[in-house]
Formats: sequence, C-alpha cells, structure tokens
Amino acid sequence: MENAKVLRCVDCSWSASATTYSRHKVDKLAIEHYCTTLHSITSNQNAEYQL
Ligand SMILES: [Zn+2]
Repeated sequence: MENAKVLRCVDCSWSASATTYSRHKVDKLAIEHYCTTLHSITSNQNAEYQL
C-alpha cells in the first residue's frame, strides 16, 4: 500500500496530506503556503519534494 504523501511546515503548524487532497493539490497548497509566509516545507517522502 502506498504511503500517503504528507507535507509539513517546519515554521508553523501547517500541514497537508494527500489522503485529504490530491498529490497535485497538496503540492499547490505547499507552494502557496511558502509564497505567502516564506516558511520551509518538508515532506514525509524522502528527497521527493523540493520547492
Ligand atoms: Zn508555515
């Protein structure tokens, strides 16, 4: 079973899970969060996620 992709902010409590949103939507939300706050986003999936 595939592990759900989860993105988290290292600077606040923001997070988005691919179980709630599609993978593309999660990426979009993370980029939006980064653009509006300049916070750093981390992923539970190794080295896959880079802004
Ligand atoms: Zn944040």
